[in-house]
Amino acid sequence: MPSLSDSTIAHGAATPDAIALRGSGTVFTYKEAADGIRAYAGMLRDKGIEVGDRILFIAPTVPEFAIAYLGVNAVGAIAVPTNPLCTPTELGYYIEDAGCKLVIAWDGISAAARQAAEAAGVEFVPLVQGAAATSGTPIDEPVDMAPGDIACILYTSGTTGRPKGAELTVGNLKAATRISRQLGGYEEDDAVGTALPLFHVFGQASVMLPTLDAGGPLSLMARFHPKDFIDMMIEDRLTIVGGVPTMWNAMLHVPGEVEPGAFDRLRLAVSGGASLPLEVLQAFQRRFGCTILEGYGLTETCALATFSRPGVPAPEGTVGVAVFDAEVEVRDGEGNSVPTGERGEVFVRGPFVMRGYWQRPDATADTIIDGWLKTGDIGELDAEGNLRIVDRAKDLIIRGGYNVYPSEIEETLYAHPDIVEAAVVGVPDKHYGEEVVAVVAARPGSGLSAEDVTNWSTERLAAYKYPRAIVFVEELPKGPSGKILKRAIDRDPLLAAVEE
Ligand code: AMP
Repeated sequence: MPSLSDSTIAHGAATPDAIALRGSGTVFTYKEAADGIRAYAGMLRDKGIEVGDRILFIAPTVPEFAIAYLGVNAVGAIAVPTNPLCTPTELGYYIEDAGCKLVIAWDGISAAARQAAEAAGVEFVPLVQGAAATSGTPIDEPVDMAPGDIACILYTSGTTGRPKGAELTVGNLKAATRISRQLGGYEEDDAVGTALPLFHVFGQASVMLPTLDAGGPLSLMARFHPKDFIDMMIEDRLTIVGGVPTMWNAMLHVPGEVEPGAFDRLRLAVSGGASLPLEVLQAFQRRFGCTILEGYGLTETCALATFSRPGVPAPEGTVGVAVFDAEVEVRDGEGNSVPTGERGEVFVRGPFVMRGYWQRPDATADTIIDGWLKTGDIGELDAEGNLRIVDRAKDLIIRGGYNVYPSEIEETLYAHPDIVEAAVVGVPDKHYGEEVVAVVAARPGSGLSAEDVTNWSTERLAAYKYPRAIVFVEELPKGPSGKILKRAIDRDPLLAAVEE
């Protein structure tokens, strides 16, 4: 099977002058992107990178991300993209867990990555503006990859343990690209724009890869700002935009009148990652005159599972029907399918379901059952097969589009000598969708203050995930096995703490 870089390289030969990527002050034509991919792959090959080697990859939403990512793939190596806001300790965990041979990080933000690479004793390569400016001898042809070969590993986590690496194969990502193109109708004359993080599956598999496969221009914004995003939509005459609900909501709050005709080419906004409030959906469609379609998926499914069919928007409050070539089932605790309209856990099957978790056979066996992926989400199906997501069985908090895993923060809190019990929960927040709150029981007589807990957290955790509010309790509610029952925590003090 061809590698993920093939379609971009083919467009480079067929439509060399067409714009492939723009953002962060750089514009690449398809020819320049194709040359950049070959040069990047050549640089990696010259450094001794071989098929199957893992490379930690840290970059914001810039064109060079796409070029270097496809360059990694063109030599058959495995990209391990992570959040640029991670601390050296967090990056060190990924380097060790995935056994990375090399660290590539965007030049402007590479201090933590350099530190982590040095501590782990692996080579560091800065990703510079222009990407192609590398010393490598360009490769002629990308390495041929089998459908089951891993193309990238994306770290994600459930309720327990540390983040696990979801292995997305070339076959998974090719299927996701094809299905995403069908759903969104991505064609060569589509101009697509996003500020989604490309290290996350949604930006990568639902926006970046389908756009480059179709052969149209992709406009990228490294730091989302609602007014700048609107300006980019107008200037680049975008036809499709991809984002999370907090972004659409922020764009609605940008003051000023919309110029008639400013968005006349805009036809579709693809929303995902978290539930889209109905008011936001309606107001966005009114203001920008385009359809907004919501999809539901996970890292483990290349961001796919359900979506509205082209021309058939999903009924309000639902996330649409199973995408092409996929099946969705709702099951009870015994694993039996439940009748229409009843709640249960959502299971998904399709060509985009990950191969497994990197070097975690037990977690893989718990999550992929006879080819069906257990999502950890609670939902219900209607008679037409539309899925409604009711709740998250797992405790993932989504703050401003970033995933925050309570277990990881709880681990950090538990390391504090004066913290006896800790639970981290998400509380609804106007600005970020959800805010991270820590409920803490302190050692009696320790005099532990909220400020102490905040200082402890900010020193150890990335800025997007440390708890913004600390609520002290004498003891946390627990179940019979002694496990903390998050659902039994009194919510009112938490809501009040976030509003403060
Ligand atoms: P991630 O692995 O980061 O893509 O996160 C996946 C989780 O995000 C899912 O398991 C859901 O809990 C949540 N999610 C994704 N899309 C939606 C949606 N449209 N509505 C509600 N929750 C969603």
